[in-house]
Amino acid sequence: MSRRRDDRSHSRPRARQGAESFRCLHCRLDVSMSAPGTAHRNHCPNCLHSKHVDDRVPGDRASDCHSRMEPISIAVRGDGEWVIIHRCTGCDELSANRTAGDDNPLLLVGMATRPLARPPFPLERLAML
Ligand SMILES: [Zn+2]
Ligand SMILES: [Zn+2]
Repeated sequence: MSRRRDDRSHSRPRARQGAESFRCLHCRLDVSMSAPGTAHRNHCPNCLHSKHVDDRVPGDRASDCHSRMEPISIAVRGDGEWVIIHRCTGCDELSANRTAGDDNPLLLVGMATRPLARPPFPLERLAML
């Protein structure tokens, strides 16, 4: 299954260059769309930021927002797969995106452990329950 760029209404600024790629809106890395472990890459493997291009269906490229999306959390699916929760800096939309094989593991683990590293109450209180 290949996803072709839709040129009809909204063309992205970066021209085609064989394999699709995009420039990260956050760290400016040039990112190839092909990624290990996922059909199409939708976020930067270096800083995990994304761009709001999909509307309802992942890969539909139907959104007009095109704002930067921040990774805010990790969720785990039933099969144990990690997904990154992105929040759009333009319209506050949330989306869940599969991690890729070369995503920055430090950032992934950092996001997954952040709530435990900064508990809203003293953890010692759990021991008294
Ligand atoms: Zn980046
Ligand atoms: Zn948006």
